[in-house]
Amino acid sequence: MSAGLLDVPRDLLERLARPGPRYTSYPTAAVFDGSVGPAEYAAALARHGASGAPLSLYVHLPFCRTLCFYCACNVIITRRPGAAEDYLDLLEREADLVAGALGRRMPVTQLHLGGGTPTYLTSAELRRLHGLLSVRFDLSAAEELAVEVDPRSTTIEQLETLARLGWNRASFGVQDFDPAVQRAIHRVQSVEQTRALVEAARRLGYRGINVDLIYGLPLQRAETFARTLDAVLALRPDRIALYSYAHVPWMRPAQARFERKGLSLPRADEKLALLQQAVRALVGAGYQHLGMDHFALPDDELSLALDRGALHRNFQGYTVRRADALVALGMSAISEVGDVFAQNEKDLPAYEAALDAGRLPTSRGRTLTTDDRARRQVILALMTGGTVPAALLAPFPAERAALDDLARDGLVRWHPSGDLGVTALGRAFVRNVAMVFDAYLGGAPDKRYSQTV
Ligand code: SF4
Repeated sequence: MSAGLLDVPRDLLERLARPGPRYTSYPTAAVFDGSVGPAEYAAALARHGASGAPLSLYVHLPFCRTLCFYCACNVIITRRPGAAEDYLDLLEREADLVAGALGRRMPVTQLHLGGGTPTYLTSAELRRLHGLLSVRFDLSAAEELAVEVDPRSTTIEQLETLARLGWNRASFGVQDFDPAVQRAIHRVQSVEQTRALVEAARRLGYRGINVDLIYGLPLQRAETFARTLDAVLALRPDRIALYSYAHVPWMRPAQARFERKGLSLPRADEKLALLQQAVRALVGAGYQHLGMDHFALPDDELSLALDRGALHRNFQGYTVRRADALVALGMSAISEVGDVFAQNEKDLPAYEAALDAGRLPTSRGRTLTTDDRARRQVILALMTGGTVPAALLAPFPAERAALDDLARDGLVRWHPSGDLGVTALGRAFVRNVAMVFDAYLGGAPDKRYSQTV
């Protein structure tokens, strides 16, 4: 990232700081509708099953014991005994329906447990989950089994259990190590407990170890964030995800307490400075900037994939393993199978009711059009490597004027070949660049999305 980033003129910053999607998919989940239901999803699964091609599997485990006030995930806060077992019963029924629609026990290349807090499940429950999945899906050739880890509640025994079952990737939630920020966001965890788990994961053979950070949280300041970055770099994770805090209190009411309690959030220019500070620290420590939000050491497989143009992006972030189908299980989970996006019911009673009725719990989605597919390719190229070949831009002459404006602002540059490149400055605003190709954005500020900076 250029050293001149702090010099972004105020009027440019004001123009760029607007609501925008994060483009974990295109079209984004915000435009899913009732055109995809259980029948359409089942048909997509059947088509994929007939192809015999391997798939990626995601399981959403929504439970957490306490609420982090910044959280934008689909979570259930509970300590009810039996909650996880009851949920596993539902997952088992959903897995039955999905495997039935696929028509065979499909090979899986990667399996990702997300949430919520996957390690809310006890070791015995994690073993049960693995068992119910491996009966219905062939996990024997899966190269990547990944789990999201909350260091506050995960035990070494749970990491051991997962490692014995074949898990080999772990992502640790940190966000910020400053005590005042941690109290403000209701997520207190020490460097020591995080380090102990990261070291245990390494000993157990986990690779591609990731740490999640968030910039833009209440009370975050340059001095305190510098200490967080130092502590994280001392852990030397293979990967670091640096997310922009998404402040959407109209959708996540717990976030409203920051303002109610007078806990000030960094302004757009302060947030941009935090981002620049972090990028400098991470790149200075030898990490490669993969694209939006993500960094990796040069010998990590994500960096190597970036170098050879083989990096992909899906709902879980960046990956080297592109599968034609991402099958997602659990409430609110989003599948992408062929040209169909399908999202499950977002709340537990509706998810359970669908399964009680013996049908897939698909509630909404989208079937991609030819235009969607072309735009998705461009957005993916922007997010993974930052160069869009001229051929991918050919269907979009109407976007040229907006891109020329961004070129004048220094976010993109035209190569003599006609390819479009994202500049170092543009990388910080890659959502704004991607928005040029989003056919579903209206002109008015869109409350479905967080600010791009
Ligand atoms: S642990 Fe993660 S999913 Fe659970 S409340 Fe905190 S941020 Fe949200």
